[in-house]
Amino acid sequence: MKQVIYAFNQGSAKMRDLLGGKGANLAEMTRLGFPVPKGFTLTTEACLDYLAQEDSEELSDPVIAAIDQALADLESVTNKAFNDPENLLLVSVRSGARESMPGMMDTILNVGLNDRNVESLAQITQDERFAYDCYRRLLQMYGNVVYGLDSQFFEEHLAQEKTKAQVRFDYELKVGHLKALVTAYKKVYQDQLGFDFPQDVKTQIYEAVKAVFKSWNNHRARVYREMNHIPHDLGTAVNIQEMVFGNSGQDSGTGVLFTRNPATGESKLFGEYLVNAQGEDVVAGIRTPEVIEDLKADMPEIYQEIHDLAKQLEGYYHDMQDIEFTVEKGKLYFLQTRNGKRTAKAAVKIAVDMVEEDLIDEKEALLRIEPSMIDQLLHPSFDPQALAQAEVFSSLGLAASPGAGSGQIVFTAQKAKEWQAAGKKVILMRNETSPEDIEGMSASEAIVTAHGGMTSHAAVVARGMGKCCVSGCSDLTIDEAAKVVHYPGGQLQEGDTISVDGSQGKLYLGEIPTALSNTDENYQKMMDWARKYSRLKVRMNAETPEDIQTGFSFGADGIGLVRTEHMFFKAERLREIRRFILSVDEGQRQAALEKIRDYQVEDFTRIFQLSQEAPAVIRLLDPPLHEFMPKSDQEVAEVATDQGISEAELRSRMVQLAEVNPMLGHRGCRLAMTYPELYDRQVEAIIYGAIAARQEGLDPQVEIMIPLVSVEPELDTLRKRLSQVIDRLLDQENVTIDYTIGTMIEIPRACFIADQLAQEAGFFSFGTNDLTQMTYGFSRDDAGKFINQYLEDGTLKEDPFQTIDPEGVGALVKIAVDKARQTKAGFKIGVCGELGGDPASIQFFDQVGLDYVSCSPYRVPLAQLAAAQSAIRQAEGNH
Ligand code: PEP
Ligand code: MG
Repeated sequence: MKQVIYAFNQGSAKMRDLLGGKGANLAEMTRLGFPVPKGFTLTTEACLDYLAQEDSEELSDPVIAAIDQALADLESVTNKAFNDPENLLLVSVRSGARESMPGMMDTILNVGLNDRNVESLAQITQDERFAYDCYRRLLQMYGNVVYGLDSQFFEEHLAQEKTKAQVRFDYELKVGHLKALVTAYKKVYQDQLGFDFPQDVKTQIYEAVKAVFKSWNNHRARVYREMNHIPHDLGTAVNIQEMVFGNSGQDSGTGVLFTRNPATGESKLFGEYLVNAQGEDVVAGIRTPEVIEDLKADMPEIYQEIHDLAKQLEGYYHDMQDIEFTVEKGKLYFLQTRNGKRTAKAAVKIAVDMVEEDLIDEKEALLRIEPSMIDQLLHPSFDPQALAQAEVFSSLGLAASPGAGSGQIVFTAQKAKEWQAAGKKVILMRNETSPEDIEGMSASEAIVTAHGGMTSHAAVVARGMGKCCVSGCSDLTIDEAAKVVHYPGGQLQEGDTISVDGSQGKLYLGEIPTALSNTDENYQKMMDWARKYSRLKVRMNAETPEDIQTGFSFGADGIGLVRTEHMFFKAERLREIRRFILSVDEGQRQAALEKIRDYQVEDFTRIFQLSQEAPAVIRLLDPPLHEFMPKSDQEVAEVATDQGISEAELRSRMVQLAEVNPMLGHRGCRLAMTYPELYDRQVEAIIYGAIAARQEGLDPQVEIMIPLVSVEPELDTLRKRLSQVIDRLLDQENVTIDYTIGTMIEIPRACFIADQLAQEAGFFSFGTNDLTQMTYGFSRDDAGKFINQYLEDGTLKEDPFQTIDPEGVGALVKIAVDKARQTKAGFKIGVCGELGGDPASIQFFDQVGLDYVSCSPYRVPLAQLAAAQSAIRQAEGNH
């Protein structure tokens, strides 16, 4: 039979898969001779075998025999016994998966107490109150985690007892009250379960082991694993360890310590301890702990020992450690060590410092930083203490764009602009946003929508702006006309103040103060390394000068997508694009387009000035034209007057424009196949802009992109026509400009004919938003309605709009890359859909050999880091 239990002195850190993180580290510390209380680990395999049993909920005979043997061994090595009143053995039972998982059952302390042993404990500790306090806690914790008894059953009695005793806090209860509680708690077992709390120590342990095993599959644990991409088939280990008593007098104590400051990264021990206390007391806030430095005065030798051992552990693991220790009668024990959790700022500082200290190399430092942490560094976040006090009113939204913002709610973009101009901070709340809302979005501290997913307009634009956004809050009903939003249990009116956490997707009532994270020299150093080790280039999706500057300040290698339609929403341009749409003859159409061209020259000049020698991909008009038409009655009336036509005429034109499936309709290159002069004038504007930059001595790299190509003749026709327009213009102006015409690959069919398209195109850029939409047949704007459920019930493992689906969308990408490069070796290919800013997708794009990814400016650093990590992992051969 395979070994199901390893004593701590039989394992090592290498056995993480089998012993879990906690068990492997306890074994390693034991192996290194650290003072670790004795114990043993039941393996993750034992857990998986238990969970696979179909016919029984009981532990198998061999597992029971192994536990019995391990307990007997523990008694003999500790010189204690479970029923020995002089040398009482109590144990802790803790879960410990390979990755630390807050969703699972965690710890039960003081296992081994029963009606008789509690008296022994009182004798040993000379503290009857403490002994009964431990026992009532065990009864509650055990009932709760092992038998699923609601804490409420116990809390009720506790509250009653406190009332009776006329005290506010648990720790004010006297031994008599605690004894009464023990009696009441035992009755809860009888009343709710029909049996007693097990007095037999072994039964306590078997039941606790079963509960830990089962907790692997509880709902919280599953959700946590899904969120953190941890496989479901790993299982958890169980650690059973001798209890040591930090509450055995003034020469005892307990504490938690980090080898460096987890908030700032400062290289100095950081932690807290309590003299004469047990583990829980430090965390439970019953007494205020002392800072670890004070231990120097309280117990100088112990302090020195802790200091030296902690540093030794850090050096051994090459990472900052989070350590739990206990001192029992002047003897130090380490109960746990693990790599400590830390803020983004601390993570970067620690990694950079460790390179300087020769503990790790630059590549390892890069691998230590979670790309998503970079987002934390670049966006403001709420003050954690204030956040803990705040009241959540919506928690079902998507964390669409990170950051934090508070302000008064408004329901129209217009109001957002007006109130912002009047000096107010506003939050724009809408069912969904449209391109017309851009200025209002930009005027807001944050954007909230009730509908739409991670690639909805609001989400994409907000990320582009680096603005906080929560989209798809399905627990909100927004009545824009009545200016009221209903949430579960209440409602808010225009002008009410809320706070939006774009990193968590949560909304809070009232204002919460924020703190801006700064990007210091450590961050700069880390990003320099990232650029040094990555192969994949990172460009930005941007069109406004501010965004472009932001992207370049983050070290973007160019612009991967200018969505020209975003430039059409200033009032004077909107008027002309509407004139173009409503025109009845060619002459009117031309006149409107020429005006738009003239407006756009200025935009493109600015883009090329900012880009200098870096390449800039400019995409020709893509959305269906109805997006430029007015929405409300009032707007219709205004536009009709402005355009000099009757309202009826305008409405009838709008009916003609309306489409059942606009995303599959008259949009992208199809617009130019039917109105070729549209793209003619756009490329003229681009080339005039490039000429202006050239006249300033710059060398613009113009990459013109045609969207939504599905058949080769679309690309062929448009490319030939546009080249002629451009060449004629360059001839006329007598200049040369480096330009290429490429295409987006965003329709599945385009992937299959990529070899043909590559003949014609100067480059490809994958539009993964549309490609995902069309591969799955999921509307990118409405999929939120079912995707959440799909993710919860396991129908989908990941949201394909957020991370690449390697089997479907990814397979298409690969087909297209292979076909294109067969046609032209070294053919330039990038990606500009939202997946271009997702770390897992970036790794995929790196592996299939794309030249660059393009993402919103604020994601550029994250993408650079992900690209470096991908390159490092590939070089190390572990992808
Ligand atoms: C895409 O489809 O991935 C893309 C970048 O274009 P858009 O989001 O503008 O449709
Ligand atoms: Mg697209």
